Amino acid sequence: MEIFMDLLNLSTAAQNTQASGIRRMFELAKKYPDAINLTLGEPGFMTPQHIIDAVTQGFADGKTKYTPNAGIKELRDAIAWKLEHENNIKCDSDKNLIVTAGATQALMLAMVTLVNPGDEVIIQGPNWPDYKGQIDMVNGKAVYCKVSEENNFKMTADIIEPLITEKTKLIIINSPSNPTGGILDKEDLAEIAELIKKHKIFVIADEPYEHLVYDGFKQTSLASFEGLEDYVLTINSLSKTYAMTGFRVGYICANEYIIENLIKLHENMIASVSEPLQLAAAEALYHGMPDVEMMVKEYDKNRRYMVEGLNSINGFSCNMPKGAFYVFPNITGFGLNSVECAEMILEKCHVVTSPGSAFGPGGEGFIRICYASRYENIVEAIRRMREAFGTKK
Ligand code: PLP
Repeated sequence: MEIFMDLLNLSTAAQNTQASGIRRMFELAKKYPDAINLTLGEPGFMTPQHIIDAVTQGFADGKTKYTPNAGIKELRDAIAWKLEHENNIKCDSDKNLIVTAGATQALMLAMVTLVNPGDEVIIQGPNWPDYKGQIDMVNGKAVYCKVSEENNFKMTADIIEPLITEKTKLIIINSPSNPTGGILDKEDLAEIAELIKKHKIFVIADEPYEHLVYDGFKQTSLASFEGLEDYVLTINSLSKTYAMTGFRVGYICANEYIIENLIKLHENMIASVSEPLQLAAAEALYHGMPDVEMMVKEYDKNRRYMVEGLNSINGFSCNMPKGAFYVFPNITGFGLNSVECAEMILEKCHVVTSPGSAFGPGGEGFIRICYASRYENIVEAIRRMREAFGTKK
């Protein structure tokens, strides 16, 4: 191994990229057969049957070859229809869209296309860890916009603007947000839209949680504001909305010139997404909304139970998130850092959570809990924590 390591001169990206802090919790959890895993950002629901049937039909019809790099026309048309009807974004399915392997690959593709070494990318702190990993892979520099619990974890224009320099290439806006569940409303986004026009910077609107919103909130897409067509890359995915995380289908909507370049690089990366899965994605977009509504109702029930439960337990204090399927409770009441706290909860309650520090700057002092699991699991997790830590007087 020593000789091998001497010979091996891995890339800077490989050497600098840190393994996810969430993975360690998975490893530790293996010790507990009765562990309730609330770590992974994944719906507890099975993918709706009509979507699975569309995949099966695709394979039965012999759709087993490469597709155009941009994705099949049927899916691009479905996405264009969806963007117009749900997001008020006009796009030409032949010019403004590319189908990707989930939002993860969409984001990587966008980074490779836009970011040069040394370019600065503004992201929220705390943030979904892959943003930082991907920025590192293109040798860009992550600049953190620290959001606060007091302001419901909102990344607003007033805290973004002081971070903009001549090296800023890209800003990533993620509403509803992972890990905080924070959302930006229409007024917040209007101010960000003005900022973008003023500074002429590319923005990724990463919106995979757009439909997972509560209390009557209606998500607005950044790209729907006038004059932003050339700056915004809207990235989305079927993963969270339709319980399709394993399908790996996502997309980017952007201006024609950017899409042309994305397609070139996409060919070098994965060429195309499996056709039956693309057909299933079209099925989901046209016919899946009743399933989504049912799932969101269940998440809402879990969300309320979880927040109320946590706030009744010694050590926790938790804001009511308005979006996604995560709570991000403050755990400073335990007098431990977030890794120690997550490990202590695992040991005492056999409940697996993610330490806030795994989500970068601003994450310390919190843990992330995903409440997309089955309701019974949420109830049992709260019961175990209540028993272990006692309730507030
Ligand atoms: N963006 C955010 C904010 C996420 O939380 C995730 C997944 O957790 C993704 C993008 C990627 O999702 P997928 O690649 O499954 O579409």
